[in-house]
Amino acid sequence: MFNSLSDRLAATFKNLRGKGRLSEADVDATVREIRRALLDADVAVPVVREFTGKVRERALGAEVNAALNPAQQIVKIVNEELVEILGGQTRRIRLAKNPPTVIMLAGLQGAGKTTLAGKLSKWLKGQGHSPLLVAADLQRPNAVKQLQVNGERAGVPVFAPDPGVSSEFEAATGDPVAVAQAGLAEARSKLHDVVIVDTAGRLGVDAELMQQAADIRAAISPDEVLFVIDAMIGQDAVATAQAFDEGVNFTGIVLSKLDGDARGGAALSVATVTGKPVMFASTGESLDDFEVFHPDRMASRILDMGDVLTLIEQAEKNWDKDEAARMAKKFADQEDFTLEDFLAQMNQIRNMGSMKKMLMMMPGAQNIRQQLEQFDEREIDRVEAIVRSMTPHERVAPKIINGSRRARIARGSGVHVSEVNGLLERFGQAQKMMKKMASGGGIPGMPGMPG
Ligand code: GDP
Repeated sequence: MFNSLSDRLAATFKNLRGKGRLSEADVDATVREIRRALLDADVAVPVVREFTGKVRERALGAEVNAALNPAQQIVKIVNEELVEILGGQTRRIRLAKNPPTVIMLAGLQGAGKTTLAGKLSKWLKGQGHSPLLVAADLQRPNAVKQLQVNGERAGVPVFAPDPGVSSEFEAATGDPVAVAQAGLAEARSKLHDVVIVDTAGRLGVDAELMQQAADIRAAISPDEVLFVIDAMIGQDAVATAQAFDEGVNFTGIVLSKLDGDARGGAALSVATVTGKPVMFASTGESLDDFEVFHPDRMASRILDMGDVLTLIEQAEKNWDKDEAARMAKKFADQEDFTLEDFLAQMNQIRNMGSMKKMLMMMPGAQNIRQQLEQFDEREIDRVEAIVRSMTPHERVAPKIINGSRRARIARGSGVHVSEVNGLLERFGQAQKMMKKMASGGGIPGMPGMPG
């Protein structure tokens, strides 16, 4: 569904790769591309404006984060803002304290309500509930029968105006409010703990339809009113959602037909515009094509980032911000890079978890798999032992480490002198590299990685 949006965003982020620092112009160019990608995906204009405004502000505010490079920071910001427009946290069905829990479905004709009723009832049954479906869609000639078919497939009973017979004529003359109330009474007497009431839709929003839905809502006091919207309807989605929100004050949104190949961005707008959460997604015609909607996972899917998110989380959790800030300041002040710093950086890396596991989460890790497999994490331990065997003065002024000091350090750390020599040589190179970066205005890197 969101393939083309995903591709466009990926291309935008790719342009940022390799940049050490983002200028305001870089941020603006990126935000412009994101704006175009969202508009082309049919995301509503006010939502795009709000979204890009926040991304720009946050990107410029440069929440300094030494664990992430600028491209990753932008991805992180876009991801978090996407989760926001998709409704933030996953929102579960609120079950009534005194069953039955009453769930009413509303939406335009063809949105997928009747199909959803079947899917939702099957899913609830799978969770150990005992649902009852109520056919209060007496508008569409075939709706009652269709619900009965879905109910049978789901193994869930259906309460209909004229159970069993359900001729189209009789159905059409019934009173949907009375049917909904009778359905609720039936659920109470048969001890169903959830009631799902399917209601009528029209081809467009109209006052009579909305009044009927409002009357049903008033008569049965539902715990949840789910507004079902076809993700493929394009820019009309926003106006339709607003009309239903005013008319029935729904509590949650269901995006249906997410399996389609429409651009789908309009569906992304409805949660923001109405302030109501997307709770479920319908992804096909079979009763199992149904899932709880997780804003964070949907955002990851749109951003096609998979494990990179986990990687970012780990980096953030374990990166010592004070240490990073200290290093950044050293750079700014053009102070010398010492063996203490070298060790501190190694420990930063170690804190981020098993190096191999971390590195394997990176995109493109397959290419360096062999090198990664040869990497020996104990190398960091050896470096640490060597540095710990030095005096504080030696650590800040390694130039004084002559032959006899090297021999002492090797003895103290249980390694061969050649390893002390090797470390000092690597450190010397790292120091040079850091000097070069500091004068060139780059950001501190990870010098002297062993192996
Ligand atoms: P209602 O008028 O709101 O009750 O809509 P229906 O449940 O009758 O659905 C209208 C049409 O959309 C039917 O042909 C369904 O099979 C189809 N449909 C419903 N949900 C989905 C979905 O998630 N994906 C696809 N591809 N088709 C769906």
